[in-house]
Amino acid sequence: MINLSRIIFIDHHAHCLLNDFSQLDAIGFRQAFSETNSLSMLQLHVQHSMHYMHMLRELSEYLDIEADEEKILEMRSRLGKTDYVQMLFDDASIGACIIDAGFRKEDMLSLEKLSLVCGRPIYQCLRIESVIEDCLKNANSFEDMQADFAEALINPGGPKVVAFKTIAAYRGGLEIVSVDVNVARTNFTELKTLTKEAGAVRITKSPLYHFLLSEAFEIAQTQNVPVQIHCGLGDADGDLRETNPWCFRTILERRKFSKVNFVFLHCYPYVREAALLASLYSNVYIDLSLALSLISPQAATLFADALSVAPSTKILVATDGHSVPETYWYASHSARRALSSVLSFLIGNGYVNENQAMEIADRLFHKNAQNLYRLSDI
Ligand SMILES: [Zn+2]
Repeated sequence: MINLSRIIFIDHHAHCLLNDFSQLDAIGFRQAFSETNSLSMLQLHVQHSMHYMHMLRELSEYLDIEADEEKILEMRSRLGKTDYVQMLFDDASIGACIIDAGFRKEDMLSLEKLSLVCGRPIYQCLRIESVIEDCLKNANSFEDMQADFAEALINPGGPKVVAFKTIAAYRGGLEIVSVDVNVARTNFTELKTLTKEAGAVRITKSPLYHFLLSEAFEIAQTQNVPVQIHCGLGDADGDLRETNPWCFRTILERRKFSKVNFVFLHCYPYVREAALLASLYSNVYIDLSLALSLISPQAATLFADALSVAPSTKILVATDGHSVPETYWYASHSARRALSSVLSFLIGNGYVNENQAMEIADRLFHKNAQNLYRLSDI
């Protein structure tokens, strides 16, 4: 078996740690390993999922204690926060992370704190929907909104921005339509009224939203940053049928966006579909994050599907780690195990030699991310 255990990993898609990540009870801890919104799922079923059982076994072996959830929780609550996170990140050979800070922002560490706690460079990925919702609160005219939106994407403050991200998949679907500026202007007035009444608006499929998404893609091109596209699993709010990356094809077919790099995140269960797009369009990339932990028994199959269809220069590895450090750690090990198994199969069957297999692993774990996000400083 080819050994990938020490290969440096640039985690190009993850989220923050919870402020109180070390003090969680069983329900809170399980929540980090499931997408369910159901309390009874967390109480009765999640702990019997294959990936969760395996994660506990691996963690108990690493911490050298019994594979018992209660004992593990008790032990992690006693360890120093920073030491514990850095121990897990060192063991997972994580070198740097690109963080989408738009998820459960109020409960999470700031990006600056995260960088201190994990002892790694942290880069920022801006969630387009959060920027739209913030701008809607403050802008008093459509023209202000457009200017504020562009300014917030170009000069947001905080760590260096290396990517934008959209969660359109679960805000009405990946079918993004072209919108006339006058239609967007009228819709601004309607949404502004709603924002004033409710204090805030959760942006979903609407003319203004799709108009601004197109603007964000154009800004991404001028700023030379890729746009990450959530697709497939990853949010219980989403209608899975609308998260198929092929729904995004109208954008990929528009010449206007042919120089914008798009990265399909997660992809499961549409890994083959996403890989096919990555094999067709030079500006499309994919990853398997989240599936590497939530569907871990099948992780090798997912890599095999992706590598069988898309060139290895188009596939990236990420953890989609969030909330607790064990999510980054488990997904990272899952990725190494799975890719090692697939590359060993490819070597054994004469597709590549060992040197080529190591080059592929280097690409997936860090080189593709370094090139795509222009991370020349690490
Ligand atoms: Zn994510």
